[in-house]
Amino acid sequence: MTSNRRTFAIISHPDAGKTTLTEKLLLTGGAIHLAGEVKARGQARRARSDWMKIEQQRGISVTSSVMTFEKDGTVFNLLDTPGHEDFSEDTYRTLTAVDSAVMVIDAAKGIEPQTRKLFEVCRLRSVPIITFVNKVDREGRSLFEILDEVADALALDVSPQSAPLGMGGLFTGVLDFASDTVAKPEGGSKEYLGSREPLGELPGDMAEEIELVREGYPAFDLEAYRSGDLTPVFFGSALKNFGVEELIAAIDRWAPPPRPQPSDDGPVSPERDEVTGFIFKVQANMDPNHRDRIAFMRQVSGTFKRGMKLTPSGLGKPIAVHSPILFFAQDREIADTAEAGDIIGIPNHGTLRVGDTLSESNKVRFTGLPNFAPEILRRIALKDPTKTKQLRKALDDLSEEGVIQVFYPEFGAQWIVGVVGQLQLDVLVSRLEAEYKVGAMLEPAPFATARWIKGSEAALKQFTDFNRANLATDRDGDPVFLAKSGWDVNYQVEKNPDLTFSATKER
Ligand code: GDP
Repeated sequence: MTSNRRTFAIISHPDAGKTTLTEKLLLTGGAIHLAGEVKARGQARRARSDWMKIEQQRGISVTSSVMTFEKDGTVFNLLDTPGHEDFSEDTYRTLTAVDSAVMVIDAAKGIEPQTRKLFEVCRLRSVPIITFVNKVDREGRSLFEILDEVADALALDVSPQSAPLGMGGLFTGVLDFASDTVAKPEGGSKEYLGSREPLGELPGDMAEEIELVREGYPAFDLEAYRSGDLTPVFFGSALKNFGVEELIAAIDRWAPPPRPQPSDDGPVSPERDEVTGFIFKVQANMDPNHRDRIAFMRQVSGTFKRGMKLTPSGLGKPIAVHSPILFFAQDREIADTAEAGDIIGIPNHGTLRVGDTLSESNKVRFTGLPNFAPEILRRIALKDPTKTKQLRKALDDLSEEGVIQVFYPEFGAQWIVGVVGQLQLDVLVSRLEAEYKVGAMLEPAPFATARWIKGSEAALKQFTDFNRANLATDRDGDPVFLAKSGWDVNYQVEKNPDLTFSATKER
């Protein structure tokens, strides 16, 4: 049986129109009935706790959510990725949980830095990409300029599937190549409201341009798209609904159904009988008075039923999943069953962690969900020194959630936190205050980066005896080398051939 699931994410640079497109996908897919609802709900939620205020101030989204909609028998699972580059770690992890991506670019701006970064992550994992060139209702670059930039910047074949007829003030609709129909703007707002016309006569130079776009680029090739070598390109306007129907149809028709996932036992096929999955994200309850968390599991195989017992790799004993959550856009609904490709939210009190595998047999471990190397290290100091215990608990919790990494040095009383981006530090301080009532300050640490060290007991002992001042343990008690510089790391790597120094920790 072929799966009717399409699990995907939207990647883009801030402001390209991801939120607007998400809204329109959900509207067109029938999941919500009011435009503006995605943002409005987001804001209501954000108001709830202090740390969320940061994202409000900075106008970014810290939390990833999962939205599901169904259209013509296909179930679309859209995983939202936070757009700000400080949250790359979270974003990267979310991309491990999708089978394909939609890349949104602004017709006037082309490929921007964040788009390129996210694209690279997709490329690493051969995640196929459909390109949506947004805002064609405004003045933008020429079609060739945009298409050639995508092709050159990303080293991809581009295969245009539609073209705007004019842009900005001259915009008169979007031509869909497959049906040879033009989606027309209507009314004062010049939106697409379903009116389509067969392609008529075009003015001379426009006819020539469209002809060149249609004929001058590679034809769509499913194989090349699925292997990440070719991207079909749709032009549209999320704000005015253009191109949204075509995009959904393309995801339905072309985007891969759930793909096998890499594990220590070889790729696990979605057809495998038992339920398996992995946790790609853990999120604390929005309500600071409740310590429970939601772990997001990407289901890899099997048919999940409510109440089913699954064994988390980190725990070793089965847990019963009584109140799983499916993330419908309208409402959270209790899931009764879920299939490969679906995302399940599992409420828990900290037993489930990012990177954990869940399975019925406890015989498989998914691989490839890294912890990213912390690029900024800070000492953490308490305003009230009697709060050590609360601080330790908070740091353990937050590192489990993936907000920070924490290192407990062998010498010295001050703990070290590591993050990938500056913004995470602000989030840390305000969450400590709001949720744990712990006032804390961050101070410069004499370290620049950290490496997890592994090796034989003897080699480890020798190393640690010599380098106590630079040693710490992480939340799991595993040894970490705190380095003063990249040079320091290289020096130790050369000096200690029996040890491995990893920038990331795979669980
Ligand atoms: P995000 O940061 O990528 O989520 O971008 P948003 O969806 O919030 O959009 C950023 C801005 O661009 C907002 O002011 C939108 O109204 C606007 N916008 C989004 N899509 C379009 C479009 O197709 N045409 C025009 N003219 N503006 C758009």
